Amino acid sequence: EPKTVLITGCSSGIGLALAVKLAKDDKKRFKVYATMRNLKKSTHLVEAAGKTLGRTLEIKELDVCDEDSIRSCVDSIPEKKVDILISNAGVGLIGPIECQTIEEMKKVMDTNFFGLVRLLKVVLPDMKRRKKGHIVVISSVMGIQGIMFNDIYAASKFAVEGFCESLAVQALRFNLHLSLIEPGPVITEFESKVYEESLKMDLSAADEETANIYLNVYMKHYKEIFQSLGQLPEEIAEHTLKIITLDNPPFRHQTNSLYTPVTTLKYADPTGDLSVDVFYKSVFKYDKIFTASLNFLKLLRWRSRKSFTLD
Ligand code: NAD
Repeated sequence: EPKTVLITGCSSGIGLALAVKLAKDDKKRFKVYATMRNLKKSTHLVEAAGKTLGRTLEIKELDVCDEDSIRSCVDSIPEKKVDILISNAGVGLIGPIECQTIEEMKKVMDTNFFGLVRLLKVVLPDMKRRKKGHIVVISSVMGIQGIMFNDIYAASKFAVEGFCESLAVQALRFNLHLSLIEPGPVITEFESKVYEESLKMDLSAADEETANIYLNVYMKHYKEIFQSLGQLPEEIAEHTLKIITLDNPPFRHQTNSLYTPVTTLKYADPTGDLSVDVFYKSVFKYDKIFTASLNFLKLLRWRSRKSFTLD
């Protein structure tokens, strides 16, 4: 019997790629409930799902910021049975905090962190009762290591990681699997949405130096990092498929091996100074070396992506 998979945030990006990937599984191992906040945005998914729609894939409405919406979505699934829950919905926010409102910040926390909490409040009790299930959370490398001008977004992913670390022990007791997927940069609407919004951002609340660092140093790096290190949503979907089909899935899984040197710095120096120092130097001192190494990585990625799309 196929496993029931509920995925949030499937109108675009990783969620869409993942829903389609699982629905098109050769061995028909999954029944996918691809959910989204606004069903009017289902066109891309409908198109990509093709013949799987109504068979191995169903589209449902679910807003992670609304507990009732989560409950009625889960209630509509046969026996309310979710074998694999994939918490993917999320929003980004970049820029100096002086230029962001508390309301905007709360929206990020409400979606990325409380969205996961709300999902689990609904899905966890049944999983515990059945002593069966896999909770998969699309976190980020920014749940391990923060990045300049991503203060609130990183905080939301740290919240996710701390929450899951605490829950992991209980999950083990109930025979449940819990996995954090930690992608580096992924080329999706997420990136472009965040980028466009940040260009429109009113920087008048920030001092001149901060505004200058943000626009002329950070934004330049931002584009370069996505171009050189960026993965495709399909690659994250591929990694996630592997994780959910393992007998003993890991608690944490980073999808981008080019990014691991960055996260490893954190574990190499418990004082945390090494990470801060390396980031500082790559942004403010060795800017040219940094750009050159990113260009080199871009070449590597371009070559590996060619082989990726072939198979
Ligand atoms: P995306 O913007 O294409 O997808 C995010 C989806 O979440 C969208 O479809 C959006 O409509 C949906 N969403 C937002 N608020 C929602 C709500 N209240 N209820 C339900 N759905 C809601 O971007 P993506 O890159 O595919 O992001 C998916 C996940 O991957 C996010 O959790 C993000 O933090 C994470 N991530 C992204 C990157 C990246 O660089 N793009 C890197 C690491 C992790």
